[in-house]
Amino acid sequence: MSSRIVVTPPGPKARAILERDARVLSPSYARDYGFVMERGQGAEVWDVDGNRYIDFVAGIAVNATGHCHPEIVRVIQEQAAKFIHISSDYYHELMVRIAERINEIAPMQEDVTVFLANSGTESVEAAIKLARYATGRRQFIGFLGAFHGRSMGSLSFTASKARQQERFFPTMPGVWHVPFPDPYHPVFPTPLNGDEGDAVVNYIEQELFAEALPPDEVAAILVEPIQGEGGYIVPPPNFFPRLRELCTRHGILLIVDEVQAGMGRTGKWWAIQHWNVEPDIVCIAKGIASGVPMGAMAARKSIGAQWKPGAHGNTYGGNPIAAAAALKTIELIENGMMQNAAEMGVWILDALAEMQARHPSIGHVRGKGLMIGVEFVKNRATKEPAKEMRDWIVHRCFERGLLTLGCGRSVIRFMPPLMIPRDLVEEGLSIFESAVSDAEKQFL
Ligand SMILES: *Cc1c(COP(=O)(O)O)cnc(C)c1O
Repeated sequence: MSSRIVVTPPGPKARAILERDARVLSPSYARDYGFVMERGQGAEVWDVDGNRYIDFVAGIAVNATGHCHPEIVRVIQEQAAKFIHISSDYYHELMVRIAERINEIAPMQEDVTVFLANSGTESVEAAIKLARYATGRRQFIGFLGAFHGRSMGSLSFTASKARQQERFFPTMPGVWHVPFPDPYHPVFPTPLNGDEGDAVVNYIEQELFAEALPPDEVAAILVEPIQGEGGYIVPPPNFFPRLRELCTRHGILLIVDEVQAGMGRTGKWWAIQHWNVEPDIVCIAKGIASGVPMGAMAARKSIGAQWKPGAHGNTYGGNPIAAAAALKTIELIENGMMQNAAEMGVWILDALAEMQARHPSIGHVRGKGLMIGVEFVKNRATKEPAKEMRDWIVHRCFERGLLTLGCGRSVIRFMPPLMIPRDLVEEGLSIFESAVSDAEKQFL
């Protein structure tokens, strides 16, 4: 199948917009390449110069149902003609309905209370505040490589790039970072009869708690079930069961940030469900409303119901357009797209395993459902990250008609819309492999 690049991107129309953008937009936005969007349909997007691309990014795991799914477009249009906003000082049924649906699918047996927000950061911020409020404790544990947002509270946990912290300290005090268990790059020696997950939990208990941090001062542990920005790292089997047990034993809340991994992306509603572990609080955003800004923080009712009126709030929470889009998104994910994510995920992992045999620069392939990372190395024995080569491949894919993004030190992540059909997966992977071949000629 032919890729449909008609003019090497960024083409003339795109370049004109890039120039205007550079004059007025904050330079803090980190862009890897100059894709200027014109429109999208399903898992395909077009730029302003008429180039067509396969979308393995989905607006960073946001366009779960694909671009402009006709049902999503319809419910947004219908709601826009009724009312666009009323504020959380008042009531409306869509706000109740979306909270009811989140309660139905939340990864806890106990009922939850739902706080609706407008982004992932705000859902994390709400969780941090609730954890302090409900426990009366002040300290927290987070993980190196984590990404939880950029506000002063959530930023105190974010640790995926030093640039995100540079010149912003002090952020919220009381956050302790420990290594995230990465099976490909273990920090600790593997314990007998255990895995790197055991090693990390042992470290928290035997080093951190014994030497520096009294466990009964810890309000919560905040963790991504699969690290996103940090490199699409899938923790080993023992990690979450051991972490849950540790939290329960010390009265520490377990907050799971499902902002990137949740909403069916990994083939289950929530990535934490791959380990049969129940969190106390779950943070949701990205995929929830197919691109309309929305976030949610769902807490076990015994915790969430402790807040008094006015303890936390916002203006836009439960926005009716976002709620309408989210309800339809949940319906579409439930009726086939989550299943497709699981099936395509297995298929892509198999294809990448074959590709790894042909390409020495591919050090490691991992993921669940449509949250897949490919790690590039200079040398398989040393596992030295091939960052420049990774950046080059991302760029080459763009020039050939495939949108991808990096994460971690030298990883390319695949996070396409959950509905992506097999033929587009195949076409995308063949562009990806030819970019890897070209890169190996240049870098190895
Ligand atoms: C993107 C992300 C956030 C922040 O979400 P925003 O909507 O950008 O505020 C928080 N946590 C994780 C795991 C994320 O991937």
